[in-house]
Amino acid sequence: MKNLLKIALFTTLFLITAAQMEANQVSEQTWQTNMTFYDYLVANNIAPLILAELDDETYGELKTIGDKTQFYEHRDAETGVLLHALIPIREEQQISLYRIAPNDEEIYAAQNFPRAYSLAAEEPKKETPQENAKKYKIEIVPIKYMIVNETLHTRIQNSIQVDLREITGNNKLSTELSAIYDTRVDFRRDVQRNDSIAAIYDRKIRLGRTWGAILVHSAFLELRKNRIYAFYRQEDEAYYDDIGNTLLSMFIERPIEYARVTSGYMPGGRMHPIYGYERPHLGVDFAAPTGTPVYSVGDGTVRFAGCQKSCDQGYGKVVVVEHRNGWETRYAHLNGFSKISGGSRVKQGQLIGYVGSSGVTTGSHVHFEVRKGGGPTNPLSLRNVRKDGLKNEEKVAFLKKARDLKATIDYVALKNSNGVTRLSATFHNEMKKRATQN
Ligand SMILES: [Zn+2]
Repeated sequence: MKNLLKIALFTTLFLITAAQMEANQVSEQTWQTNMTFYDYLVANNIAPLILAELDDETYGELKTIGDKTQFYEHRDAETGVLLHALIPIREEQQISLYRIAPNDEEIYAAQNFPRAYSLAAEEPKKETPQENAKKYKIEIVPIKYMIVNETLHTRIQNSIQVDLREITGNNKLSTELSAIYDTRVDFRRDVQRNDSIAAIYDRKIRLGRTWGAILVHSAFLELRKNRIYAFYRQEDEAYYDDIGNTLLSMFIERPIEYARVTSGYMPGGRMHPIYGYERPHLGVDFAAPTGTPVYSVGDGTVRFAGCQKSCDQGYGKVVVVEHRNGWETRYAHLNGFSKISGGSRVKQGQLIGYVGSSGVTTGSHVHFEVRKGGGPTNPLSLRNVRKDGLKNEEKVAFLKKARDLKATIDYVALKNSNGVTRLSATFHNEMKKRATQN
């Protein structure tokens, strides 16, 4: 804690000036890029000596404020003196920097803003950093918010994103829904005007605004009268449809980010750039600079990592990964491997090697090949391969729950033809009654 030495040497006198301030005491501010907590104290005429009182843990938290964090300030209306700042550091926690009232009551320790209080009674005076530091306190406190359970149902007029922003005032719900449906529906391409969307979700409200992430419990997307349901399953924090299929796909679409396809899947043959005669191209080539990371597209076991005949021939340095249900993926012409070898277990998205130009190639790229039951298949259709759904007792239990969830969201959509409704306790009771009657 070398910084504290510097703070201890900070001996400038502090003067509280009685500037005229506007009447609005609470304001929302943005934490400037690269501003430290020390800078913030100095800017507010608070002696950084206050930092010396903190334990290491609290002191460490002060460094975790993200650039552009939105935070609240409460200032004295007449003097402009900072009375209280609430600065979020995580979804659940915030830094509370507050001024202790003159009668030594810690009235600003509250997680939200306190009752009105004015410094006007205090005589402006010169004070030492020691005196000034005693007037403030820093604590890490929980963020106080309220959770509301809401339902939304609307027909799409423009796009899901535009319409939901208009209805909810922000992008949070559409971002969440697009992540849930990511492997099934392309929101931009597949959704048409008059398709509809419904969701039942929890939203947090802090100081009058939506705060943090939204938790979607149930949703449906109705495309040309066909409803694709998504129900949250707490046990694995994942979404399943009404027949127990996961919304996740077994594979990610490509083994490499930001790469251009230079040669597609042509099982019927293409003119080979080096051999000079027609040969089938059983994979897809992604061009990328040497050293670009290559990831396994699915969970599996490495069957081979090395050079098959020689590193100058054919595939060069290649990784072969075996997946469930007879799937196999190959990543060829690599420059090198990550820490894997034959027999290693790999997860979807795990680094397995780096792009190169080993073997027979015309430039650095990864040749990505997919086989199913031993035969080649088009790698660009991988996205549609669904991960295994629920099985046995898990499936039975889920389907029972899904029946109720489906009845609820269908009912909500029927009753609430457009916009957001806050679900009341009466609604929940009614749904419970309906569920037990069935
Ligand atoms: Zn190729």
